[in-house]
Amino acid sequence: MPILEIQRAEKIHDYIQKLEKLTNLPLRSSPVILSSPRQQISLELPKEVKQSYEYVEQLYEDISEHELLFKAIKTGWEYINSGYKMFPVSKEEYFQQINKSYVFQVAQERGYSVSENYLKEHKFCYGQYEMYYAVHEIMQRNAFDFLLSKSYSQNFIYTYANWYKCVKLISAQFIIPLISTVQKNPHVLDQLWVVSHNINQLRLLGLEIVGEGEFLSRNQQKTNNTILLNQLGYEIYQVASWWCRVDPYRVICEFLKASGIFPDATKYLIGAELSTIDEYVCGICHAPMVRWGWDWIQPYQIGNKTVLAHKDCVARNHHAGH
Ligand SMILES: [Zn+2]
Repeated sequence: MPILEIQRAEKIHDYIQKLEKLTNLPLRSSPVILSSPRQQISLELPKEVKQSYEYVEQLYEDISEHELLFKAIKTGWEYINSGYKMFPVSKEEYFQQINKSYVFQVAQERGYSVSENYLKEHKFCYGQYEMYYAVHEIMQRNAFDFLLSKSYSQNFIYTYANWYKCVKLISAQFIIPLISTVQKNPHVLDQLWVVSHNINQLRLLGLEIVGEGEFLSRNQQKTNNTILLNQLGYEIYQVASWWCRVDPYRVICEFLKASGIFPDATKYLIGAELSTIDEYVCGICHAPMVRWGWDWIQPYQIGNKTVLAHKDCVARNHHAGH
């Protein structure tokens, strides 16, 4: 009987193949990052307070909304006391949050006007969940063995520690008011990364997980929204939800590279050489692979060749007295 890890991988690969037929889009060979900003946007922090690194130390998860964040930036957010959390407490809590109606409920409680049908929407995006889970693993448990860290070179340790130190908050479902004639409801970013920059600056990196539907219906409104978000100080990175389902760790590395906060991230990533979803195939059992846990894809030596393989296949081959 095939193991769970392989069953899941087969299911996801099948699903994407079907989706591809349905949408007539080359999803399996699409880029991971669908769009990134033309330039970086950095926000100045009040100079007299303290250095940006220290300044953002006190910024925690309760800030899930634009007005609150900017108030915090202006005042030094000493009034915020949220128990030093960077993330929702548990994955279950997050699971609840990414239900669209939940976040619009929160927005309404905070005084935003939200149309009735948005409050009833129970849409759930699995790509978002996988992405959140991966971010949670990397930031909370410091699991970075999915990177080629075996050598623990000085350079690796330095660059890894450096970006890790700069990331100050990752907020899921971040609410931003967008004033436009056609849009009444606030805009929701799937993830907001608050990153300290230089001595006195901040960068706000918005991650949007774009599904095939949205990708198909790319319209002027979306472009306008991105322009409005840029004007408010947010850099917007759009990533492919189908890639999030196959390899969320890869998506994070590509995002770290594109945003410049860890430019070498993909250089250290195990499996970064796989350029399409079709190439995610186990070198031992030849079944499809996905990376839903940081250690699901592992290098394995066969003769003088190194292949990539399922964690379970590698473990079983070792047990078999390879
Ligand atoms: Zn395998």
